[in-house]
Amino acid sequence: METPPRGFAPPESFDPAQQMQTLQAGCRTLGIPLTPLQVAQFEVYYQELVEANAKFNLTAITGYEEVQVKHFLDSLVALPLIVEEVGDTLPPATPRHLVDVGTGAGFPGIPLKIVAPQLKLTLMDGTGKKISFLQQVVARLGLRGVEVVQGRAEELGRSPSHRGQYDLVTARAVAPLNTLAEYLLPMARRSGLVVVYKGAGAPQEFVEARKAIETLGGETVRLAPVQVPLLGEQRFILLIKKVAPTPDRYPRGQGLPRKKPLS
Ligand code: SAH
Repeated sequence: METPPRGFAPPESFDPAQQMQTLQAGCRTLGIPLTPLQVAQFEVYYQELVEANAKFNLTAITGYEEVQVKHFLDSLVALPLIVEEVGDTLPPATPRHLVDVGTGAGFPGIPLKIVAPQLKLTLMDGTGKKISFLQQVVARLGLRGVEVVQGRAEELGRSPSHRGQYDLVTARAVAPLNTLAEYLLPMARRSGLVVVYKGAGAPQEFVEARKAIETLGGETVRLAPVQVPLLGEQRFILLIKKVAPTPDRYPRGQGLPRKKPLS
């Protein structure tokens, strides 16, 4: 195994051929290369997730196979589409800055960072206990170039340190698309890409959010049906390019993106 990053200790008696086999098979299907060190990082991430989950609820998905499919592979499924859109390789060679909004226990941000170490990553969430968990995982995995920020997307999207700052903006399972567009588009830089993870309801949500996306400076590139390896459920990845600045009045305060989504 290559030299692990400072601060990262692979699990004792770790054999990369024997562990995370479902993830490894899925990554082969997706065309995403995985080194033994990265396999070890996923293994430790899994252990941290299960351990923290015993103390406070982070996720309902905790089985070894289930986490590999529904959290790890589901998070990685967008990467081939992203690199295709921005004209990069797998793993990406360009150090783009990605913000994962409403990241929870770190999805999709941390799996993306593990397989694409060149990414600079900002993890955002409104909940304090999630933030402490994320800080601990980032340290345990020895991840470099990761910032963990506590706050509400609709407030951070107004602050100069986050507004218009990111090449890539992701979110999975955070809000309906018309609400989400108002959280995410303000953070993307001009020509940046917003990447939304959605389930089977995506086409309908898209119809309801089309106008909002345009108002906020976005242009839809594609709504792609995707197959998460070994998962029998429909998933979609929506790619939105930021083509114009978001007007100053967005995101609105007082919970309005959620209570009165743009239409
Ligand atoms: N993206 C993760 C977590 C989904 S749960 C996953 O796919 O597993 C939704 C998360 O979004 C929660 O952790 C919640 O705290 C966070 N969240 C919801 N609305 C938010 C907002 N307006 N600003 C910041 N975080 C938010």
